[in-house]
Amino acid sequence: MSVSQRTTIVPSVRLNDGHFIPQLGFGVFQIDPADTAEAVGEALEVGYRHIDTAEMYRNEREVGEGVRASGLDRGEVFITSKLNNGYHRPDDARRAFETTLIELGFDYVDLFLIHWPLPTLYGGDFVSTWKTLEEFRDDGRARSIGVSNFQIEHLQRLAAAADQVPAVNQIELHPYLLNEQVRAYDEAHAIVTEAWSPIAQGRVLGDPAITRIADRLGRSPAQVVLRWQIQRGNVVFPKSTNPSRIKENFELFDFELDADDLAAITALDKGEAGRTGPNPDTFAHIPA
Ligand code: NDP
Repeated sequence: MSVSQRTTIVPSVRLNDGHFIPQLGFGVFQIDPADTAEAVGEALEVGYRHIDTAEMYRNEREVGEGVRASGLDRGEVFITSKLNNGYHRPDDARRAFETTLIELGFDYVDLFLIHWPLPTLYGGDFVSTWKTLEEFRDDGRARSIGVSNFQIEHLQRLAAAADQVPAVNQIELHPYLLNEQVRAYDEAHAIVTEAWSPIAQGRVLGDPAITRIADRLGRSPAQVVLRWQIQRGNVVFPKSTNPSRIKENFELFDFELDADDLAAITALDKGEAGRTGPNPDTFAHIPA
């Protein structure tokens, strides 16, 4: 398959290191490796130019295959991957990063993240892990580096020890979990917030406050929630293996939510009760 050339309609967000990231991308968590190249190809055909994967997802190789099969130049697609939890020690992180590049089949990633802070493991030391990611940035194999699931206290520790704060912090964030304190800290420190599970894996889509707006605007609930994320300035990468939903999730730039709609969705926050994934303060899982 060769992807048709098109002018992207997705806005880019400037990172604190001068690079730019497309605000809308495609996430591949829980996509079976056997289906990943096809899903990535579908997304690139629709117009996505940003793919979010991780060593933990076991589909980096198929992400690379999907990008190469599209016929797009490497430089046209923004690719993020993440350091898995078993590799926080510097030598392990170096080996894991090399493996990520080999699996993807590319000589650089656009963005590389520490996937989880794991404050209860490794003697609470994620600072030496971060310093190791700085090596990858400095040698050009990671254009940008960042973190995922970092809480304010974790970010403060990095700020005290590092040359530069992370370019992004990828956190769980959707209408049921605004994660507002972390997001506000990110904003105040020039860290771009990436919202993972941007539609809460579908859990928010039946909420009457959202379906009411969707019905009024003639849009789907997922489009309304993703548009809310975009207007709040978050970077998002919804996951789908369904071609019509991959397309639907990309069609966000020809309508707007007004202030009342934005406020109605923001009011759905349930705080910690809205969290669907692990709490970063206690999460300590190392995949087999
Ligand atoms: P999402 O919020 O993107 O939701 C995905 C789910 O919603 C799937 O079940 C999908 O089903 C369904 N869906 C997608 N689009 C629609 C639609 N338009 N209408 C109805 N249902 C829809 O969840 P994810 O957890 O996948 O998060 C997105 C990405 O965030 C991940 O792929 C990953 O890249 C990243 N992430 C990062 C984490 C981290 O710790 N850093 C943790 C979790 C995710 P179907 O496929 O059948 O369409």
